[in-house]
Amino acid sequence: NLVKLTADCIFCKIIRGQIPSFKLVETELTYSFLDIGPLSKGHSLIIPKYCGVKLADIPDEFLADAMPVAKKIAIATGAQDYNILQNNGEIAHQVVKHVHFHVIPKPEASDKQG
Ligand code: 5GP
Repeated sequence: NLVKLTADCIFCKIIRGQIPSFKLVETELTYSFLDIGPLSKGHSLIIPKYCGVKLADIPDEFLADAMPVAKKIAIATGAQDYNILQNNGEIAHQVVKHVHFHVIPKPEASDKQG
């Protein structure tokens, strides 16, 4: 079992259900939910069930699980265009010290199409 959570991390608490969240997709290795401060409708976060600050701290299995989930979530939002974002480290604007991938739909871009 690769899963490793810690006691005081807010994202570990979300995975455990100790902090409520709007869950999207849960797999053996990742958990995803709506961002509490969305930059656009459907802004979501995907987190590994492994508490590490940066990508280099996380086993590759978790990272491999995250991208197919990102694709599913992005498709479900209906947005044609979106950003996948991972702020890796404080200088890169990471606030929560548990690796997370943002899925940020760009509805204006998709609305202009077609
Ligand atoms: P960062 O800047 O670390 O890449 O982004 C952290 C993200 O986590 C922010 O977009 C913020 O809104 C989100 N966030 C922080 N705390 C919570 C929380 O308790 N619940 C949810 N759903 N999102 C959170």
